Formats: sequence, structure tokens, C-alpha cells
Amino acid sequence: GKYSEYFTMNESDAADYAATQLDMFSEGASLSCKEIGDGNLNYVFRVVDAHSGQSIIIKQAGPVARISADIFVSTDRNRIESQILKLQYELAPGLVPQFYHYDPVMNCCVMEDLSDHVIMRKALLEHRQFPLFSDHISTFMVNTLLLTSDVVMDHKAKKDLVKSFINPDLCEISEDLVYTEPFYDCPRNDIFEPTREFAKAFLWEDEALLLETAKLKFEFMNHAQSLLHGDLHSGSIFVTEDSTKIIDPEFAFFGPAGYDVGNVIAHLIFAYVNAECVMEDAPAREAQKAWLLSSVREVIDLFREKFLSAFREHATDRSAKIPGFDLYFLDQIIQDASAVVGLELVRRILGLAHVKDIAGIEDDMARARAEKLCLQMGKAFIMDRSGMKDGEDFVRAVEEHM
Ligand code: ADP
Ligand code: MG
Ligand code: MG
Ligand code: MG
Repeated sequence: GKYSEYFTMNESDAADYAATQLDMFSEGASLSCKEIGDGNLNYVFRVVDAHSGQSIIIKQAGPVARISADIFVSTDRNRIESQILKLQYELAPGLVPQFYHYDPVMNCCVMEDLSDHVIMRKALLEHRQFPLFSDHISTFMVNTLLLTSDVVMDHKAKKDLVKSFINPDLCEISEDLVYTEPFYDCPRNDIFEPTREFAKAFLWEDEALLLETAKLKFEFMNHAQSLLHGDLHSGSIFVTEDSTKIIDPEFAFFGPAGYDVGNVIAHLIFAYVNAECVMEDAPAREAQKAWLLSSVREVIDLFREKFLSAFREHATDRSAKIPGFDLYFLDQIIQDASAVVGLELVRRILGLAHVKDIAGIEDDMARARAEKLCLQMGKAFIMDRSGMKDGEDFVRAVEEHM
């Protein structure tokens, strides 16, 4: 049949796929489809039945990245995404879309339509606030990161999982784009001209910083601590006033747990710098910045609190239960998170993949100021990571640069 060999679908193919390959819609359904993907890698189709109003999402992995035709990424990433969505749904119920179907030939998966939510980056660019976000995201991270570590999992079962989520192509993207290219004058970087001189003097010529980035890169590649989401920025998070849903786990693999925590914090900081540099109304700006900084504080502090209590409740490894190990393990994760905040703050300014919070600032002077702030904070979060313990430390590292 039509779907027995892989091809990249267009909107009418996806509607036909929904009608003929899935038993989700009734006989008389009247299906229409729109491609709504805005990511860097994949195609996302929303299929709606005009009769019932029922809708689904079909996400298909294409053979090359949308962001750059010279990035080839195995379509096996759709298997990883499908399996991880199912696993995270079990580990963190209510915080992940419902998963319906995976097709290993078409490299597509079918999931719950979250169109009643909004992508958090978009909402933050509109300077909206989500008071329950810190609570939700800290639960998601504790459940997915601690419960997949050797503290809790049977060690052999965990090694089997490590094997099935090796994910070499997507790890290579992170190794290159996050840990390597932003720290030298790499041709693939995408640098705003007014920022170039500062990047060179402040980062590329700082040998102590470069040494830390090398250590961190090898830590990322060689520390199979927890099953990471791997791409946990504000574009992978759907929100409403009272709900948070995490999507797009195709970068998942076993790595250092602080990687996810650091990504969440970095993208709150991008929103903070955006508010600082574009909001003209002073009271609204200060209120937005205050909420974002209190979210930074709460994400870290709630993560710590929930992590320690879940550790007490779920730890199975005998050595892990030796008094003091829980704090040792957690403190290391928080320091790793700090380093990743810094790496992410740098790589989204200088590297190939930008964030709209900063690259979308229209006024050139304001954008140059925003970029310099991110690079300054970024370096501090990397270099000062050994002193980073609680939410207040993260807040202070931001405020010191303002
Ligand atoms: P990519 O891997 O290409 O970044 P994403 O999974 O992030 O793809 O999806 C890209 C966009 O598609 C999202 O920003 C969102 O607008 C839309 N989208 C993805 N999944 C869903 C969903 N379950 N419900 C509604 N919209 C979705
Ligand atoms: Mg995405
Ligand atoms: Mg993307
Ligand atoms: Mg993605």
C-alpha cells in the first residue's frame, strides 16, 4: 500500500493517513489537515474532523533538518520520541501528551492535540505569567530524572534502557552546537555583527573558560546518569494557566541530569532579558522580571525539595541510602545545571540555533545589549558553578549582571 515505504507526507497525505491507517475517526469523518510545525527538524500535522471536532497530531521525522540542509539526522529519532513520550507519560502523568500510535515505516507518531495550550516561548514573548509552571516542571524533572537513575532503577534494566536510547545523531548535534562551536570562530555560528568582537575577547580568548567547556562536553558524553528529555527549552513546553505539558523528547538519552534543569532555567533567563530589553512600561517590566526570577528560584528550590523527598521514598540502591549520599548527588546535579545554564546562554546567542526572545529584538542597540548580558551571565554560570546550590544562588548570578 501507499504507506509501506517511507516518504515525507504533505497535508493531504497526512489526512489520508489518519483516515486509512488509524482507527481513531468514525466512518463519516470529514478530515482536514494543516502542517503547523515550527521546529528545526520535523513536520507536525494537525488533523481535524469537522463533524465531531475531534483532532490529533501526527509528527513525522524528515530526512534532513529544516534548519540546515547539511544536518542529516536519523529518522530513528521518531522511535526514540515515541518510546520516551510513553515512558514519560507513565513517570509524570498529566505533564506529557497522551500517545496513540508509532509507525516505524513512515517514521511518524500520533499524539494528543494540545492546541488548547500555547507554546511557552510564545506566551513569554507576550509577557504572560504562569504561576504553576515551577511546580509542574520541577515535578516533571524529578520524576523523569531521579526515577530513571541507578538510585532507583534496577541496574541491569537501566543498562538496557541506556542501550535503546543511545541517540548518536541528536547527541552529536548537542555536542557540536552547545559544547563546541560557540566557543570558537566556527563558520556554522550565526553571530550578530555587533556581538562578534565581544565574543572574541570575552569568550574565545579566555583559556580558563575554554578548558571548562571541554570538561563539560566530556561530562555530557560520558555520564549516563538519567534519561534526559534533552531539549527542554520553552519551545518544548505547552502551557495554560493551570496545565503544563512537555513535548518533543527526540533528543532523549542517558546523560547528566543537570542538563534538563539547566535548560529550563536558561530559557527563563532569556525571557527575563527579553523583558528587560523590550518592555517600555516600567511597572509591567519590573513585574514580569520579578515573576521570571522568582520562577528561577522556585524551579531550583522545588526541584531540590521534591528530589530529596522522592529519593527518601524511592531509593533502592543500598549505597545510595548511606546518609549524605542524597545531598552529594543532588548538589552535583545543581552544579551541572548551572554550567548548562551558562552553555545554553552562550550557544543560543552565538551558535546556529537562536531563540526569538533575543534574536527577535528589533532594535539593534537593544539586541546587542541583550546578547552581551546573556554572554556575561553565561560565562559566570559556567565558571562559578561549584558555588551554586540553591535558587537564591541562581537569582543572584542573574542580578549581579544587571
Ligand atoms: P520539532 O521537533 O520539529 O521542534 P515539535 O515537537 O517541537 O517539533 O513541534 C513543533 C510545533 O508543532 C510546536 O511548537 C507546536 O506548535 C506544534 N505541536 C507539536 N506537538 C503538538 C501537539 N501535541 N499539539 C499541538 N501542537 C503541537
Ligand atoms: Mg521542538
Ligand atoms: Mg525544535
Ligand atoms: Mg524537536
